[in-house]
Amino acid sequence: VYNFCAGPAMLPPAVMKKAQQEFINWQNLGVSVMEISHRSAPFLELARECEASLRRLMNISDEFEVLFMHGGGRGHFAAVPLNLHQDDAPGVYIENGIWSCGATKEGQKFTQVEAIDIRRDQDGVFDVLPVSQWALPDNAAYIHYCPNETIDGIELFDVPKHPTAPIVADMSSNILSREMNVDDFDLIYAGAQKNIGPSGLSIAIVRKTLLERKGLPRPAILDYAIEAQQQSMYNTPPTFAWYLAAEVFKYLESIGGVKAMEAHNKEKAALLYDYIDSSSFYLNKVAKHCRSLMNVPFWLHDESLNEQFLAQAQEHGLIALEGHRFVGGMRASIYNAMPIEGIKALIAFMEKFAQENS
Ligand code: PLP
Repeated sequence: VYNFCAGPAMLPPAVMKKAQQEFINWQNLGVSVMEISHRSAPFLELARECEASLRRLMNISDEFEVLFMHGGGRGHFAAVPLNLHQDDAPGVYIENGIWSCGATKEGQKFTQVEAIDIRRDQDGVFDVLPVSQWALPDNAAYIHYCPNETIDGIELFDVPKHPTAPIVADMSSNILSREMNVDDFDLIYAGAQKNIGPSGLSIAIVRKTLLERKGLPRPAILDYAIEAQQQSMYNTPPTFAWYLAAEVFKYLESIGGVKAMEAHNKEKAALLYDYIDSSSFYLNKVAKHCRSLMNVPFWLHDESLNEQFLAQAQEHGLIALEGHRFVGGMRASIYNAMPIEGIKALIAFMEKFAQENS
């Protein structure tokens, strides 16, 4: 089966196999990693190595804290304004799809917000203004944006710059998918359930100087400074998810790191987009410069065939291809763990379906 789910998404089979072997007996302790204290020596070593591995993979300097938290992506929608609020300046939210708009909505509950909609849809093509044309205000508490809109299939490849405001990125669906310069950001966060591990865990990479901000009164579990002081163990962390994240990072390092993964992801995405573009049966509506490497929405020209397409895809072992209910159509999420064979199998099925129904 090839699982095209947008999240929780497929994990590398090699990791899942190892986890299965270790499930009830981790490190010959006679118990699973879920059953030991997060403060025990073996778990502390796991946590230390997990962070070190992520630091190597993303080239994260000592100027940043790496936090392993609860609350998923949406937890950070709340944590960002709570930690970064400044009385005299709005939180600036760039809107380019459903998740970034969701972040704005959550931010509005806590702080003054300025939303900038960069979508420029024309003639049925979903497009966004390039970063160089964003009109960012001088006075901003922070600039929040979502480099990969999971539902809309829109990815922003350039990083915004601001002379004073920290740059905050929701990388829930594209972290570790391609090389990025962490120094261009001040806060990166991501829910784990796409490129990192199972849901339940989220990651925040925070510039240490940002932790000095007073922000707003907030729950301790959403407080980046407390999480940093407590080595992400202010409360009991999602230990099994953390263990699997460590295994995914180890695996990623073993196959050549993010550079190798980027090449793999670009090859997969190019194959699929090229096929869709060459077909008169399917359609991708996203402008070419901002097409996501991770989430590929596509539509059948004849939408009355949708149900049939999905049912037959499932029979071919191609699952979770239904588009998000907000945008309809189909969506193939092709995260790090999706092998090129999965893309080839999908294209072969799409071609067969198109021939049989044209
Ligand atoms: N941000 C993005 C880009 C997402 O894709 C998602 C979930 O798919 C979220 C935020 C919300 O994440 P969670 O469900 O972990 O809160």
